[in-house]
Amino acid sequence: MSELLNFNYPPEPAVDRVTLFADVILPLPLPKLYTYRIPFEMNDDVLVGARVIVQFGAKRVLSCIVADIHEQAPADYQAKYILDVLDDTPIVTAPQLKLFKWIADYYMCTLGEVINAALPSALKLSSESRIQLHPHFNPEEDDIPLSTQEAKIIYALQQNQHLTFTDVANVLQVKSYHKYIKSLIQKEAIIIFEQVSDKFSPKVVKKVRLSEHFVQEEGMLEELFEQLTPKTKQLDILLNYLQQVPVHQDVNLNYKGLEKSVLTNNPHLSKSSIDSLIKKGVLEQFDQIISRFPVDDSPRLLPMTLSEHQLQAKDEILGLFKEKDTVLLHGVTGSGKTEVYIDLIKHALEGGGQVLYLLPEIALTAQIVTRLMKVFGEKLGVYHSKFSDNERAEVWQGVLSGRFQVVVGVRSAVFLPFHNLSLIIVDEEHEASYKQYDPAPRYNARETALMMAHLQGAKTLLGSATPAIETYYNCQTGRWGLVSMTKRFGEAQLPDVELINTREEQHRKNMHSHFSGKLLTAIEERLHRHEQVILFQNRRGYAPFIACDECSWIPKCRNCAVSLSYHKFSNELRCHYCGYHERMPSDCPACGATTLKSMGFGTEKIEDELKLMLPKAEVQRMDLDTTKKKNSYQQIIADFENGKTNILVGTQMVTKGLDFENVSLVGILNADSIIHFPDFRAHERAFQLFVQVSGRAGRKGKPGTVFIQTRDPMQAIFRKVKSVDYEALYAHEIEERMRFAYPPFVRMIRVTVKHADERTSENAAIVLAKDLTDRLGKQQVLGPEIPYIFRIRNLFLNEIHIKLPRENVNLRQAKGQIAQAIQQLYLLPDFKGVKVVADVDPM
Ligand code: ADP
Ligand code: ZN
Ligand code: ZN
Repeated sequence: MSELLNFNYPPEPAVDRVTLFADVILPLPLPKLYTYRIPFEMNDDVLVGARVIVQFGAKRVLSCIVADIHEQAPADYQAKYILDVLDDTPIVTAPQLKLFKWIADYYMCTLGEVINAALPSALKLSSESRIQLHPHFNPEEDDIPLSTQEAKIIYALQQNQHLTFTDVANVLQVKSYHKYIKSLIQKEAIIIFEQVSDKFSPKVVKKVRLSEHFVQEEGMLEELFEQLTPKTKQLDILLNYLQQVPVHQDVNLNYKGLEKSVLTNNPHLSKSSIDSLIKKGVLEQFDQIISRFPVDDSPRLLPMTLSEHQLQAKDEILGLFKEKDTVLLHGVTGSGKTEVYIDLIKHALEGGGQVLYLLPEIALTAQIVTRLMKVFGEKLGVYHSKFSDNERAEVWQGVLSGRFQVVVGVRSAVFLPFHNLSLIIVDEEHEASYKQYDPAPRYNARETALMMAHLQGAKTLLGSATPAIETYYNCQTGRWGLVSMTKRFGEAQLPDVELINTREEQHRKNMHSHFSGKLLTAIEERLHRHEQVILFQNRRGYAPFIACDECSWIPKCRNCAVSLSYHKFSNELRCHYCGYHERMPSDCPACGATTLKSMGFGTEKIEDELKLMLPKAEVQRMDLDTTKKKNSYQQIIADFENGKTNILVGTQMVTKGLDFENVSLVGILNADSIIHFPDFRAHERAFQLFVQVSGRAGRKGKPGTVFIQTRDPMQAIFRKVKSVDYEALYAHEIEERMRFAYPPFVRMIRVTVKHADERTSENAAIVLAKDLTDRLGKQQVLGPEIPYIFRIRNLFLNEIHIKLPRENVNLRQAKGQIAQAIQQLYLLPDFKGVKVVADVDPM
């Protein structure tokens, strides 16, 4: 030991001039990362996971994420310099970078495409970086010690909404201002943002307060009263202000001021009087930046006390988590899974970890968000597809800063910058909406969540009343844990399911348009008893197509191989694939006859007919067409919850996760179109849909009934739905999947070839399929075949299905082969303009 201590080390070499390079992820679909050189003076400032500005191509200046820093110059090009550093701390965490790489590999896309999907565009920016006050920082109130220079910056920011770095240099009259900005960011007094157009702009409220000297100087307020006595309107304003902001009790209250709109909360108080007071210098006006996510002040509700079944489920889950990373909670509809989740989230938070709670569609689960908000308050962030970009950026920052420890969100929430997850919940894990179809990355949030949990050492709880066959298989083989809840919470019973044979009813002249007499009578009965009804039809619009009675002409989309749906409200024909629409013609463009008939029916028609048949009932419709606006779905749900609406008609939106007390009847108007769908998952899907929509009935005490209208009640699936026999469904499905080689026994990749010319598309698909067969083997490649909808957005489609056995196949290698085959095809001159899309684990 002593020898070592006495040894004289040679002096260390100077390290400050090391030449460093950064590999960056540009938000572009580029096949590889680009390497840029870090200027010496930025050696300490460039961080992995932070954004830098670079020039790409001749003209473009872009921000990008640093993926790696090293000393290796690129071999085949001269590295350009990084132009600037945007972040002092990473905005993408280390586990996130790993996850993004996995997504790119697994789902066969580029890192740029992943980053593009992941980052809210407020964080993507390009031009100039700016700073602004942190939305939570209130310079008047917060007691953060600031240096003189820092205070100058804050003062300047109060005068101006935001400053560029050049502005900061001018304000301080110094060249090196970076450290002050950095320190202010650390103190959470400011944030950096990028401004292109409407990037992270803070939300501001207009406030007023008394001018300083009226509160600080003795007797000034009294004097003011005397002055204002003749001006009663202005005096009223002043009195109102003092009532709401009692500065005579505490002068400090004045800093906070009062929102202008609150000050005129009484009809006899006028805005113009405020303006006069501002002009006189009595009141001063100021803007306050507020959070887009106001802190909920309502008292925290304690979680409900778990029932014995729930407690048992929770204990089993925690027990299984000791050995397994993933557990499925298979609980019938209404078994009270949400409360079990809440308890587990509490548990995870107490351990100091972060929690992600995934839902298939937040629009439909406003109820769950409300419930979670009440328990977790300001710790809860919500990540939502209908949120503005600013709101998304705020959640992103909130996860980074630790403000949000629990996030409830839709599939894209898997991109958020967690670094310390301890629990992920994937509710309704069977839902197809977890899978993104288009554009790339074509990821499944359930699978991505599992990888995310793996990377961060977190546990994953999948929850469903109707698990995906693949999920249940993983439980059966012992890879994942399984916990079941077979009873509804409390006294509630699962509903009775009754089948109505519409073929027979038609024979007996007992069909009133799309309603059987039985269903109509049942609806009337429920309305009479002041109970509510949910009706499900899986098509929106008025009618899926129209046809001429004389010549059988059917209007088709000019871009896609589908018929146009008729939407009565807008009197339009619309394509549900590309959005094309035209006015409904008054007579047939082919033969001139005026007998255009609508065929089939959608939710709009059901709503229409109900209003005619049951004029006293309040009917509302919930589908894509009625929920376009940000809060419209919330309104529809609230109206139904409050009993304002008697009947709710909807597409699958009404099937998921909704919890209403008073619904005693659910009607499925046409079950057949769901069962007869050309897909290996058709049966599973139909079961899930029927059981889920049935699950909305009879959730609180009142017994529920479900009517299913079908032309063929003898089909096996109905027996399983009636008895909610998931085991039977599983046993049947898993055997079929094994026999015909479908997931979970194989992995599927769907390769779609697209081109505007039908021949070219077909020929390219044939050539590609041949190459794939050579590379992967005959058994592995099926097709090409022409899909049911063979033309979308003017492109003709051809599909090749690749089935890779689970065992003995190097997945990475196989995907590499597929990617190479596609590249090879792109090189052939005959197939210029052909586009090929690979979809891994298509749903
Ligand atoms: P699931 O998600 O399994 O379909 P929910 O979690 O929505 O079921 O619960 C069904 C109903 O039972 C809800 O109305 C819920 O408020 C109620 N509930 C569940 N657990 C409890 C509990 N421990 N105490 C009181 N009510 C509960
Ligand atoms: Zn015609
Ligand atoms: Zn179309």
